[in-house]
Amino acid sequence: MNIHEYQAKQLLAKFGVPISKGIACKTADEVGRAFTDLSVPMAVVKVQIHAGGRGKAGGVKLVRSADEAKKVAQGLLGKALVTHQTGPEGRVVKTIYVETGSDIEREMYLAVVMDRGSQAPVVIAAAEGGMDIEELAAHKPHAIARHRVHPVKGLQAFQARALTKHLGLKGDQAKAGAKLIAALVDAFMELDCSLAEINPMIVTKQGEVKALDAKMSFDDNALFRHKDVVELRDLNEEDPKEIEAKKFDLNYIALTGNIGCMVNGAGLAMATMDVIQLKGGMPANFLDVGGGANKTQVTNAFKILLSDKNVKGILVNIFGGIMKCDTIAEGVIAAAKETKMSVPLVVRLEGTNVELGRKLLQESGLNLQTAASLDEAAEKIVEAIR
Ligand code: GDP
Ligand code: MN
Repeated sequence: MNIHEYQAKQLLAKFGVPISKGIACKTADEVGRAFTDLSVPMAVVKVQIHAGGRGKAGGVKLVRSADEAKKVAQGLLGKALVTHQTGPEGRVVKTIYVETGSDIEREMYLAVVMDRGSQAPVVIAAAEGGMDIEELAAHKPHAIARHRVHPVKGLQAFQARALTKHLGLKGDQAKAGAKLIAALVDAFMELDCSLAEINPMIVTKQGEVKALDAKMSFDDNALFRHKDVVELRDLNEEDPKEIEAKKFDLNYIALTGNIGCMVNGAGLAMATMDVIQLKGGMPANFLDVGGGANKTQVTNAFKILLSDKNVKGILVNIFGGIMKCDTIAEGVIAAAKETKMSVPLVVRLEGTNVELGRKLLQESGLNLQTAASLDEAAEKIVEAIR
């Protein structure tokens, strides 16, 4: 799960990360009032969307009066902002954060990420931060320092010192930097993050070290113990089909192809997507209905597939282990009838109660094809939508 910059900053501030004062707003009038309330000579108007690259796309603007703040907000609210992370359709701006403007001396990069290779969180830092970290990683990998956080001992003082040195911080700024890094690591560990990123971390002309931007992603499997974090979820930023899928405990991820897939088990789902591509098709989604799905889940999974306008055909590939093939068949039949399914459907069933499942499908009167192997099933659905 992801959250907005202003939410991440509020969380990080609790752990001791220095941030500027700011106010989140929903309307242009609120933005104007926020500028007045901050009573500073310069503020930053920042769109809040779950995507980076806002600065380059015109979503981060310095303003010097309440009127200017309001005008800038009017130009941004309700419109889609396209950044290099949003895809061509962009993200509609519904929230704007107005923050006290900073006089920037220098921009740096700091992040903690869960690194599979290291089997631990890793702190990443670069003295050249700001908007082009991807470029830096590609062309100057040595400019990026990495320190593994010990899972039990945490980040050690010598590591924090090495990191601040790498960032080019000295004296009091090095101390402030080390504190900020420790606070970021604390937040990452305590809140079960997969990513906590500050880009840029800045030194101001007045010599303060602080977070100018913040991004946090959380491990969905740990959200049950962070009710306060779950409350920060913004459904506007998520695919409605994925939201619907979560309601029924389905593992669904929307993709860009046109063959809807319903499969049980993540491994089988991945294999199914591979074979579809091998046969010249493109999957419209990843969907794992789970090992022990019931009829309601299967019905809803099927409805979610059919609600996707890009879906031109559906492939059901189920291995009935704990899950019974007749349960799948019942779910498919119920959903197909309820939604008046009009796209081609290929079903491959194997395992527990397979005969019963096949019989139910045959007697359902639905226009579908069956297949005995995954190869055959993928060939048939690719052929059917051609
Ligand atoms: P992103 O482009 O989505 O990553 O948005 P950021 O919050 O990182 O802002 C992008 C850039 O805007 C930063 O790298 C800064 O150069 C600039 N910026 C943001 N806030 C301020 C500010 O308070 N003062 C100044 N002078 N520039 C700012
Ligand atoms: Mn940024």
